[in-house]
Amino acid sequence: MPADARPGHRVVYLRDREDGQRMKDVLYVHPPSYKGVEFHNPAGLPRPVVAGLPFPWVTPMGDSGPLFREVERVKAELCRRLWGCQVCGNDLDTTAWVALERPEDGSPVVTSAAIHRACLRLGVRHCPVLGDAANGYAFTEVFEDDITAVAGDGAQERAPAARWYLRSVADTARPDRVRTFLSVREVLEGPQVC
Ligand SMILES: [Zn+2]
Repeated sequence: MPADARPGHRVVYLRDREDGQRMKDVLYVHPPSYKGVEFHNPAGLPRPVVAGLPFPWVTPMGDSGPLFREVERVKAELCRRLWGCQVCGNDLDTTAWVALERPEDGSPVVTSAAIHRACLRLGVRHCPVLGDAANGYAFTEVFEDDITAVAGDGAQERAPAARWYLRSVADTARPDRVRTFLSVREVLEGPQVC
């Protein structure tokens, strides 16, 4: 391993996308490898399949295999700042979906990032955290101004720079909008979008 790379702290740089998206390409100076081959994990669908699972764009590849329970910080921050999808790495549309700790205004957004409707279904189907009904998570469609970001205190190195919350609908540009909160089951049984 190069001297300037530690597991989970690979040296990267960002490049504008040739497809005109707001989201950037994340390029590894020292790419991780999987099964002896450099693993670049580019944005887009379909996702690469690793260990039988679709591999999210923000998930890090470690030296000894995929780190499904971790998030690559530089990519997660890009998603938060540029309204990008943490599952596929592409720009989000005018609306996107978030996972909430509770089905109500003011709830924390579970991962402080949003995802496409199709990517939400993929995540709920394959992620043992998002897809575990016992966690009581709820899923809702949001515009960017449905989210408020509260800066963290920087005390935890691995925490995001800002935590996301679902703003009260009365404080948004669409105060008369009625929010719909879906359960895990409703996401899985809803209309097929992918
Ligand atoms: Zn996506």
